[in-house]
Amino acid sequence: MKLTDSVTAIPLIGEKYQKLLNKLDIKTVEDLLYHFPFRYNDFSNIKKISELLVDETATVYGSIESIKNIFTKNRKKITKAMLTDETGKMELVWFNQFFLTKSIKAKSSVGISGTVENMDGKLAFLSPEYEIVKGQTPTHTGRLTPVYPETRGITSKWLRSKIKKTLDFYKEADIEFLPQKILKDRNYPSLNTSLNFIHFPNSQKDIEQSLKRFGFEELFLLNLKSQQRKKSWQGRELAQKIDLPQNIKKTVDTFVQKLPFKLTNAQTKVSEQIINDLTKLKPMNRLLEGDVGSGKTIVAAIALLITALNKRQAILAVPTELLAAQHYTTLTNLFEHFGIEIGLLTSSKKINNQSCQILIGTHALLYSKINLQNLALVIIDEQHRFGVEQRAKFLQTIETSKTPHLLTMTATPIPRSLALTIYGDLDLSVIDELPKKRKKVTTWLVPSKKRDGAYNWIKEKIAKERAQVFVVCPLIEESEAESMRNVKSAKEEYEKLKKIFSDFSVGLVHGKVKTKEKDKIMQDFKEKKYDILVATPVVEVGIDIPNASIIIIETAERFGLASLHQLRGRVGRSGIKSYCLLFSDSFYASQNRLKYMAEIHNGIKLAEIDLKFRGPGDAFGTHQHGILKLKVADIFNTKLLAESKDYAENYYKNLDKHPKLKNKLQQSTKISVSPN
Ligand code: ADP
Ligand code: MG
Repeated sequence: MKLTDSVTAIPLIGEKYQKLLNKLDIKTVEDLLYHFPFRYNDFSNIKKISELLVDETATVYGSIESIKNIFTKNRKKITKAMLTDETGKMELVWFNQFFLTKSIKAKSSVGISGTVENMDGKLAFLSPEYEIVKGQTPTHTGRLTPVYPETRGITSKWLRSKIKKTLDFYKEADIEFLPQKILKDRNYPSLNTSLNFIHFPNSQKDIEQSLKRFGFEELFLLNLKSQQRKKSWQGRELAQKIDLPQNIKKTVDTFVQKLPFKLTNAQTKVSEQIINDLTKLKPMNRLLEGDVGSGKTIVAAIALLITALNKRQAILAVPTELLAAQHYTTLTNLFEHFGIEIGLLTSSKKINNQSCQILIGTHALLYSKINLQNLALVIIDEQHRFGVEQRAKFLQTIETSKTPHLLTMTATPIPRSLALTIYGDLDLSVIDELPKKRKKVTTWLVPSKKRDGAYNWIKEKIAKERAQVFVVCPLIEESEAESMRNVKSAKEEYEKLKKIFSDFSVGLVHGKVKTKEKDKIMQDFKEKKYDILVATPVVEVGIDIPNASIIIIETAERFGLASLHQLRGRVGRSGIKSYCLLFSDSFYASQNRLKYMAEIHNGIKLAEIDLKFRGPGDAFGTHQHGILKLKVADIFNTKLLAESKDYAENYYKNLDKHPKLKNKLQQSTKISVSPN
């Protein structure tokens, strides 16, 4: 059995379990071993029955005197057993687990772990963990017992057994792929030991040690992947050259001067970096990071303009039709006097999609035959909203033998040190400044009992100041695409608000509205035909309505702080005093976390705080941070990020001397979190 084999290579795992495991993203033997616990039950307190105290968590080793299934008066199924040891007896009770009598028989020697309860004056374990003891070292009781992310049909107990057997299988095998020197220098346990430590630790220290190793390993591999991609990108040949002769330079300068605003210093700086790349003979591969509202579109527009003036073609890819339509309008206006043909291609709309110089589109671009002979630049906006596969496919599609310049734009707040790791293959430009006029969006948390008051306040704002309001509907399911359930909740919200705001005009927009209609709704909102626009959470992405000054976010507690920050960025775009109202019915539960929204107006800081809040209970579960899903490593551990990067740069140069590491890098499909 190889680590890269399918899980079905493990005894007693067939097609049925394979399917279930797939839901946990476990496909190979290695995936199973890397399915880490998110917490442990501490059952290491081993006691005799006579020593037990109520409420303590403990393990008892003893023998089953009797066991039986019974129905209670109200037809509940319970399994009752009597446990004995040399000091006494106690009752064990399980609910709805009649099958237990098949594995636990009278006279079995067992380990029982759980919290001791007082049942009618007598001590008992309710629904304890159990295991039949046959002289083996215990797996489920009497120790720190791992608890895993589960799915229906796959319990922690099942995972524990399988992982234990698999680890035993590899006991003598040399599965290490990290260079010995690294292990030694950094004092990390071997892979074998680390896996045993993380799944079956004897102490807290074991867990810590293994986490250190796995945290490093994760970042090290990410960095190596980045190196690999960087190399391969650098070896590519540029598709089309772009020049910046005096006349084009002049046109671009005039274009910038005629904008209704002055570029921020940051915008100027990143524009220069991009222009510099564009005029080189190597394909650009650059990430442009900038908080919501920092003005990335205009930077993209400058790059697009230069490309078009070179008589070359460019693609601007966006994740939603709404955004495609918005960019189409924006660019059509911006380039009105330049005689540039702009095209639009989404699944429901096509304009000039064959003859244009700038083609704006959604992932429909992937599935149509676009024939841009002179393609020189591809810009991907809001790249984090594209699925990883979509991005990969996208690059394949545009990738002829020669490569265009590539600019990816994102508002995901990624600390620079982290960006250098996961996007180590990309050059990084950061817009670290918002346009001056912009004011902080005043943010309030609104508990249910103040909801009516808030609605009245908004009515007044609309009536007196013609304020425009976004209402973001409850987040029912988080998904890249719009789920039907989100759409349904949007419709309900809309019906409700139409009644509450009966004197005003209310609009509704969601992912299932046809593009044409969507455009019209957005346009109408822009032209103030609606006072209130109800939208699904997906509308977050990049929509620009300068006049909107109030945003209500329903079920705010379901969103991450960074997402809330992005949503909040929909208002306060034009200098009008703006407000963000976070509605939450579980207000007191969420208050601690949400209160930071009122105080902090910086995406990165908010993401950092969010992570801290997710800490307990999920101490090292999936560290989710926008697009980033790190399994173990702390994404804000700047020191480790820098160190792992150094190691990766060194080892990448000598990869041939480390065949196991090289092999690992080639095999792993799961390492990548980068846009390409
Ligand atoms: P994002 O970075 O979120 O994509 P946009 O490009 O949509 O932001 O810009 C947000 C708004 O700010 C737009 O209405 C845009 O016209 C405006 N804007 C962009 N740059 C400036 C600037 N330097 N000064 C004032 N307003 C600006
Ligand atoms: Mg944008």
